[in-house]
Amino acid sequence: MKTATGSLVIRNGQIIDGTGAAAVPDGVVVIEDGRISYAGSATYAPELPAGAQQIDANGGTIMPGLVEAHFHATYFNIRALEDLDIKYPVEYVSLLSAVNCRLALECGYTAARSGGCLFNVDFWLKTAIEQDLIPGPRLSSSGREICSAGGLMDWNPEFRKIGMEGLVFIINGVDDARRAVRALVKDGVEWVKTYPTGDAAAPDTNDHHTLCMTFDEMHAVVQTAHNHGMKVTGHCRATEGIKNALRAGYDALEHGTFMDDEAMDLLLERDVAVVPALYFEKASVLRGEEFGLPQQVIDGHQETLDGGAESALRILRAGGRLGMGGDYGFGWNPHGDYARELTYFTKEVGFTPLETIMCATKTGAEIMGRGDEFGTLEAGKLADVLVVDGDVIADISILEDRDRFIAVMQSGIVKAGRLAPAEHTDVIVQG
Ligand SMILES: [Zn+2]
Repeated sequence: MKTATGSLVIRNGQIIDGTGAAAVPDGVVVIEDGRISYAGSATYAPELPAGAQQIDANGGTIMPGLVEAHFHATYFNIRALEDLDIKYPVEYVSLLSAVNCRLALECGYTAARSGGCLFNVDFWLKTAIEQDLIPGPRLSSSGREICSAGGLMDWNPEFRKIGMEGLVFIINGVDDARRAVRALVKDGVEWVKTYPTGDAAAPDTNDHHTLCMTFDEMHAVVQTAHNHGMKVTGHCRATEGIKNALRAGYDALEHGTFMDDEAMDLLLERDVAVVPALYFEKASVLRGEEFGLPQQVIDGHQETLDGGAESALRILRAGGRLGMGGDYGFGWNPHGDYARELTYFTKEVGFTPLETIMCATKTGAEIMGRGDEFGTLEAGKLADVLVVDGDVIADISILEDRDRFIAVMQSGIVKAGRLAPAEHTDVIVQG
């Protein structure tokens, strides 16, 4: 990804640095060659470089670019789960995914970590973004997901004679588990996404208290993935599935819905990060009826929303780490709504705005394994910066409104927001 050259100064705004520290009023961020050289009070700022470009934050907020920690670039705002594997071919899914990546960046998300993808699209999206062929968040890739036969993701009845090759590896036992991970090694992905548990979406056979993989299968996934330098995460709602994942050596948990004391101890012992992804649940409750979800499913989502919110607050208060990512890409929870997750955590779960922002920036970057590169406004970090016209502490929902963004920057280059250069392409595809 290209890096800015020269000096840039952002001034006239409060600084929220992403570490959880209190906002610094009247702050200045100095950027040299795409990296932050100073972020703090204007009073203590070094002499500003002569001839530096200036950005006026208009009395608003200067903060790190957001990290969407449970991103599905390839989920094209589906109306039903089956759309994922039968509606479009990989060619069209890839194009739609590129559009979603651009949108995420325009929404202030300068980085994203995938929560699973169709085919091997993430890896190539990441490649295209890194090479500046398409705009998008810095991406941490997943691949096809892993679920045991008969589990949550194995939804096609046998009579349909449909495989699920582009979506998920349906495994039976540890040999299949290893085989699936080895295929992902060859795909070049960073994260192996698994389905240890069910979900409210499948109330009859794989609800949110059901297990969808055995401990042995999960352990085989982790052993094989770690051997090849890949990380493992999983869709974990049921308490026993959470414990299995933590005991098997998972690197992160998606959802972490029903935590008990023992699960909390296991989680904190290894400091495993959790991405609750609650807005999917919230949206399912709010708009499920409109999209034809059965009442039983909506009730299940309410239960997982309540359980997930309670667990998230408990984890944060106990000193655990949480990423913000809302599982967007469904008709009722579409791409573009990413920051609703932040509003929800602040206004309904009980996080302070600074806590929510820390989870959505610093912790997100840490989950991606890139906490030393970006995620906070600190000297030495890449200048992935969001300049917002407004006080996001007074009202965090401002972040839902792209029109409020003065600049969305990656490595000191303004990619979106009011100051973004007019749209044009100077890319010539190289074969
Ligand atoms: Zn997801």
